[in-house]
Amino acid sequence: MSGKNLKIHKAKKARFERVGLFLLNLSNHHHMKDHLQIKDWGFGIEGHVVIAGPCSAETPEQIEKVCLDMKKENMIPDIFRAGIWKPRTRPGSFEGIGEEGLKWMEIVRHHLNIPITTEVGNAAHVELALKHKVDVLWVGARTTVNPFAVQEIADALKGVDIPVMIKNPMNPDLQLWIGALERMHSVGINKLAAIHRGFSDSYDKRFRNKPNWSMPIHLKREWKGMEVINDPSHIVGNREGILETAQRAINFGLDGLMIETHHDPDNAWSDAKQQVTPKRLKEILSLIDFKDTLGSENPSEKLNDLRTAIDHLDDQFLDILQERFSLIDQIGAYKREHHLTVFQSDRWKYVMESRTQKGVEKNLSEKFMKELLYCIHEESVKRQEKQLREANPVKK
Ligand code: PEP
Ligand code: MN
Repeated sequence: MSGKNLKIHKAKKARFERVGLFLLNLSNHHHMKDHLQIKDWGFGIEGHVVIAGPCSAETPEQIEKVCLDMKKENMIPDIFRAGIWKPRTRPGSFEGIGEEGLKWMEIVRHHLNIPITTEVGNAAHVELALKHKVDVLWVGARTTVNPFAVQEIADALKGVDIPVMIKNPMNPDLQLWIGALERMHSVGINKLAAIHRGFSDSYDKRFRNKPNWSMPIHLKREWKGMEVINDPSHIVGNREGILETAQRAINFGLDGLMIETHHDPDNAWSDAKQQVTPKRLKEILSLIDFKDTLGSENPSEKLNDLRTAIDHLDDQFLDILQERFSLIDQIGAYKREHHLTVFQSDRWKYVMESRTQKGVEKNLSEKFMKELLYCIHEESVKRQEKQLREANPVKK
């Protein structure tokens, strides 16, 4: 770009960003609060973060063996994970070793000298984790669903400087996920990240917890700079699918991976089917094509050209939408004059079916077409109903 163009481009960009910030501020001022990204947590972590370690701490020997195998394979993660308190779906299965296991984290520090993380589900867990100098905490999916529990954890963390990672809730509720991050932020925890571990879905047997890739993307849109780590182990629930899911997460721009790793997965006390050995973890990581999250500062000329073309198309798209809604308003006026209801089901059925078919012919997915049409139709009906309401106010 020439000097002059660059200047104009920068000025435009700055204006765009200002307007964007303003709108974002309007829509949700909480999410503009600063938080510190993983690279600024003080552990010297760069690029995609890798968190690995067993589902549960079982014995000191197990912890040592996992560490030694990681060392042998030269597969040292950025952060070592181990569950100490396990929220099991039904009682009777191994529910975690408890405080005893926190003492074994010294073994990890001794062999690997990396930060450790564990799950906390209540204030007592927080107190013990802090007492044993756990470096990073995570809140599990079963806890994120419960604002009382999340608030209790947040209150126990008031005044403490420790990074906290929030797993998505069991159900795909973005606000609940953001709400848990906000509860931490509002007690002063500013080292924050999210973890996408999929959502409970009893119908889809392909996954233990079905991923929903739009959810982390929405989260990143709503909370600028929020990093989302992917947990393919709990998404897939077996060893075989981990690589594919991890690669998809990276393709979607997620910021790291948490993968359950055990020296002897088959004999693990929890989640035996999904844990991998340090050797396999190394293989998985070497097979993943890690993409760069594009430095937004310096996109290449080619990318700039493509983005400019998109900007023009979006302008046209908005013009067409404006025209379409102006026709909708005219139809609304007609319906009003002739005392017709706003929603006409036959017409809607025809629009839906014919457009979806055309879209599919143009290589757009059926799901996307349906969502798009629903969205446009809903807005149309609302506009017409508003016209009707304004023209015939309810008599008081
Ligand atoms: C875990 O990481 O071991 C765990 C219990 O995860 P989740 O909260 O995602 O079920
Ligand atoms: Mn697990």
